[in-house]
Amino acid sequence: MQFTDLKAQYAVLKTAVDARIQRVLDHGQYIMGPEVAEMEAALVAYTGAPHCVAVASGTEALLIALMAIGLKSGDEVITTPFTFAATAEVIVLLGGVPVYADIEPDSCNIDASLIEAKVTSRTRAILPVSLYGQVADMDAINAVALRHGLVVIEDAAQSFGATYRDHKSCNLSTIACTSFFPSKPLGCYGDGGALFTSDPAIAQAAREIRVHGQSGRYHHTRVGVGGRMDTLQCAVVLAKLERFDWEIERRLALGDRYGRLIRDSGSPVQLLAVRPDRNCVWAQYTVMVDDRPAVQAALQAAGIPTAVHYPKPLHHQPAYAAYCCPDCMPHSIRAGQRVMSLPMSADLAEADQDRVVAALLGALR
Ligand SMILES: *Cc1c(COP(=O)(O)O)cnc(C)c1O
Repeated sequence: MQFTDLKAQYAVLKTAVDARIQRVLDHGQYIMGPEVAEMEAALVAYTGAPHCVAVASGTEALLIALMAIGLKSGDEVITTPFTFAATAEVIVLLGGVPVYADIEPDSCNIDASLIEAKVTSRTRAILPVSLYGQVADMDAINAVALRHGLVVIEDAAQSFGATYRDHKSCNLSTIACTSFFPSKPLGCYGDGGALFTSDPAIAQAAREIRVHGQSGRYHHTRVGVGGRMDTLQCAVVLAKLERFDWEIERRLALGDRYGRLIRDSGSPVQLLAVRPDRNCVWAQYTVMVDDRPAVQAALQAAGIPTAVHYPKPLHHQPAYAAYCCPDCMPHSIRAGQRVMSLPMSADLAEADQDRVVAALLGALR
C-alpha cells in the first residue's frame, strides 16, 4: 500500500497530463510560458482570491510573501510551533523573529485566542498554518490583525481546496501561500507553489520579487529571488485541476469514513477535531495515539505505511529553539509525541482503508 498513491492518479489522468506536457514541449517556452498565466487564472477562478502568483515552491511563496510586505531584521511574526520547518525558516532567513503561540490540542491548529497576547510593537504579521488541510480560525485571527495593523499570511500548503465559512482556503486573508509538492492536495510533478493576495500592490511586488526584483527587463527595482514556477509544472497542475473537485469530494468522504470506522470501533485512537464551520481536505489523515512507536511498528509489520507530521515542535528543533523556552507550548509538545498519519489520497480504495483500520485496531488491542 502507498502512503500517497500518485501512480493511481496518473493512470487516470495520463491522457490529460501527457497532452499538457506535450504542448509545452512543442512550444518550448519552458520559463514563464503561457501555462503559467493560465494556471494563475484557473487558481483565481477556483479560490476566488483576486490575485495569484505562481512561484517555485510553497517555501518560496512564504519567503516572497514576507519580502513583499517588507519584513525587516528584528520584525516579529506570530506563528504556530507545530508545523513544517519552512513556516519559521523563511521568517528567520529574513532576520525576523518567529513568536510562537500554542495550538488547540484537539485540532492541532494555532489557538487564535492566544495570539493577541503575543503582539508587540515589533509584530508585523500573523502566519497561521492550515495544518493537515483544516483552516485555523481565520475570522478571529483577521480581527486581531485589524486591531493591531498586522498582515495575515495563511500557510495553506496543506489546505488547497478546503473551505472555511463558505470561502476557500487561500482567499481568507491578505496573503496566502500554497504548495504543489507532489503529495499535497493539489500537487505537480516536482516543486511548485503559489502566492494569493487580495492586495494588488502585494501581487505586483510578488511578481517582481519572483524574477529577481525586475519591474522591467534588466530593470531591478528591488531585491528579489529566482522564484519562478516551471511552465511544465504549471501544465501538470492544469491537467490535475480537471479532476480536482472529484478528488476533494473523495478526500472529504474518505476522511469521514476513517473517522466513522475508528469511532465506531470504540478504540482509544483520538481523532482530529474538525470544526463545524469548515472542513479538512486531509493532506494527511492524522490521528493521535499513545505509544506511537509500537503502533507504527505493528502497522509496518502489516504492510501499512505511516508517517509523523511532525515529531517535534519547532522550539525543540535546534535551528529554531532560540525563540522559546523548551517547556513552553505544552500542547504542541504533546501533539508531537502522539500524532500519526495514515495512508490517504483521493484514489485510496475503501477496501485498503478497511485494512488500515483493521490493522490499527489490531495494533491497539
Ligand atoms: C509542504 C509545506 C511547506 C513547504 O512547501 P514546499 O512546496 O515543499 O516548499 C510549507 N508549509 C507547510 C505547512 C507545508 O506542509
